Amino acid sequence: MTDQTPVHGCTIGGEPAMPILISEHTQLITRLAEAEAERDTARATNRRLNLEKQRLESELATYRRAVAQWEVSERGTYIPHASLQAIGKAGGVDLLGTVRHLKHFQRVEQAEDAIERVRELHRKANNGTTCVYCAGMQRIGYDTDWPCDTIRALDTPEPTP
Ligand SMILES: [Zn+2]
Repeated sequence: MTDQTPVHGCTIGGEPAMPILISEHTQLITRLAEAEAERDTARATNRRLNLEKQRLESELATYRRAVAQWEVSERGTYIPHASLQAIGKAGGVDLLGTVRHLKHFQRVEQAEDAIERVRELHRKANNGTTCVYCAGMQRIGYDTDWPCDTIRALDTPEPTP
């Protein structure tokens, strides 16, 4: 504003200046308030999206960790029970409560752990051809060569009837 004349008594296009200026001022204030409201909404949206992004990244990491426990080979894919539980939890589903097979998986894993413990006992000697456990028993006339009776029993599938 270079014109220092007081607005009182001035005219714009033949109309009294004051009401026109007041109206324009009001419009500017309204537009400013609208722009601020839009900015606040945009900020809130941005915050919400950032939180959502963090939540999704964390969920994705959970899925990736779970799937990384899967053992994939030519014979098939072994899916550990705990990994399914983790996936269910991340997805908001209690798999233990809804999938009956998981009880069976748990028993299978317990059985596999037990077999692993037996194999650990009946392992082949580092230097030699004997079974560490069976040779340790020092029974005369007992075949202590590895694989011993125990390991052979584990490795020989039951003949299908
Ligand atoms: Zn043995």
